[in-house]
Amino acid sequence: MQKSWDIAVVGLGAMGSAALYQLSRHPGRVLGIDSFTPPHDKGSSHGDTRITRQAIGEGRQYVPLAMRSREIWRSLERESGASLYIENGLLVFAREGKSRSDHGVADFLDQTVGAAVEFGIGHELLDQAALRRRFPQFRYTGDEVGYYEASGGYLRPEHCIAANLACAQLNGAELQLEQRVIAIEPGASGEGVILRCERDTIKASRVIVAAGAWMPRFLPDRVAGKLRRFRQTLHWFPLRGHPAPYAPERCPVFIRLSDAHSNMVYGFPAVNGPDGGLKVASEQFEEDCDPDTMERTVTAAETEKIWRMASQFLPLGTKPLKQTTCVYTVTPDFGFLIDRHPQFPQVILASACSGHGFKHSAAIGEILAELALGLTPQLDISPFAYARYGG
Ligand SMILES: Cc1cc2nc3c(=O)[nH]c(=O)nc-3n(C[C@H](O)[C@H](O)[C@H](O)COP(=O)(O)OP(=O)(O)OC[C@H]3O[C@@H](n4cnc5c(N)ncnc54)[C@H](O)[C@@H]3O)c2cc1C
Repeated sequence: MQKSWDIAVVGLGAMGSAALYQLSRHPGRVLGIDSFTPPHDKGSSHGDTRITRQAIGEGRQYVPLAMRSREIWRSLERESGASLYIENGLLVFAREGKSRSDHGVADFLDQTVGAAVEFGIGHELLDQAALRRRFPQFRYTGDEVGYYEASGGYLRPEHCIAANLACAQLNGAELQLEQRVIAIEPGASGEGVILRCERDTIKASRVIVAAGAWMPRFLPDRVAGKLRRFRQTLHWFPLRGHPAPYAPERCPVFIRLSDAHSNMVYGFPAVNGPDGGLKVASEQFEEDCDPDTMERTVTAAETEKIWRMASQFLPLGTKPLKQTTCVYTVTPDFGFLIDRHPQFPQVILASACSGHGFKHSAAIGEILAELALGLTPQLDISPFAYARYGG
C-alpha cells in the first residue's frame, strides 16, 4: 500500500529525531522512519553521555549551532520534563607547548580559546597551579595548562532522542519503527519522493535523510566514497578511592589532549552514581567499518589500551563495569554535511557529524526542518555545503 506524507524523516537518531520534533511544531503530515527503535545502540548516539561546549575548537562556524542548541535543549527540557543538558563545566587540558590536535584541527586548545574570546563565552585559563587547586581529581605531569568553560557539560543522548520523539508524537507526528528504507527515488516527473521500504512504499512531498553511519547508501557514489566510518569504543571503569570528587557537582567533563592524537582521552564524571564508574574514551581514525557487520564486542587489547592512557591521570580499577562500541562518520575536513541533495532539492541531507555532532543536533534539526518547509535557515549553513565534497 502506498501512503502519502508532506514530509518524511529517514533516520531518527540525534539529527533526525530533532528534525522531526521541529517539523511537528508546524502544520502538515509528518512521518519519522527508522530501521530500529531509537534510542538504540547500533548507530552513533548511545552511551549515556555526550560532551557539550559553547566555544567550539573545531571551528567558529559551529559556535552559533552550539548556542542555539543550548536554547532548544532548555526549551525541550521544559516541554518534556526530562533532564537533558547538565551544565557541570568542561575542562580541556594539555601539556604546554606540545602539539594539541583534535578533530582535524592542529591546535584545538588555542582554537577553543579563540572562539570563546570572539563570541564572549565565559571561560577561565588555568596554569598548572590553578589546575591543581581547582581540579585536584586529575593527576598532572607538571606542565599542563587548561581551559575551563562553566557552560560546558554533558547531554544525555538517549534521553534527548526519546524527548524529541515523544514531543513530536504528542504534536501529531507519526513513527514507523523497525522499518528500513531501501531506496529513495524522485517521484514521477521529478515531483515528490518515493521511499521504498522493507514493509511498504511511502510517498512524501519532501524528505530529510539523517541516516548517520548508513548515509553513504543515500549519496551519489562520488561523495559517498569520501565518508569514512570508524568504530570507536566506550569504557566505564570503577573508581579506586573516594568517589565524591568525581560526582558531577564537583567534577567537570574533561578532554586531555596529547602529543599524539591517538593518545587523547576524554571522559565524564560519575553520572550514574559512584557504582556506575567513570566513562572514558579515546578516538581512532585508522580502521574503517560497516555498521551492519562491524565487531560489536570490545577486545581485551582495546580495554587495556584505554585503561593505560586514562589511569595516567585518573584512579581507575582495571576491570571495566561496562563497554560498548559506536560509530563516527567522518568527512575529509571533519566538517558537517547539511544541504539539499544536488539533483533532487526535495531531498535534504544531514550527515557526517564527524565525532562532534551531538551537541549541535538540536539546532541542526531546526535547520533541516526550515529547509524542508521551504524557509531560509536562520543560521548560516554555507560552511556545511555538499558542493565542497565535489558532488
Ligand atoms: C563514541 C562516540 C562519542 C561521541 N562523542 C561526542 C561528544 O562528546 N559530543 C558530541 O557533540 N558528539 C559526539 N559524538 C558524535 C555524535 O554522537 C554524532 O555526531 C551524532 O550522534 C550522529 O547523529 P546522527 O543522527 O547522524 O546518527 P544516528 O544517531 O546514528 O542516527 C542515524 C539513524 O538512522 C537510522 N537509519 C540508518 N539507515 C536507515 C535506513 N535505511 N532506514 C531507516 N533508518 C535508517 C539508524 O537506525 C539511526 O537510528 C560521538 C560519537 C560517538 C560514536
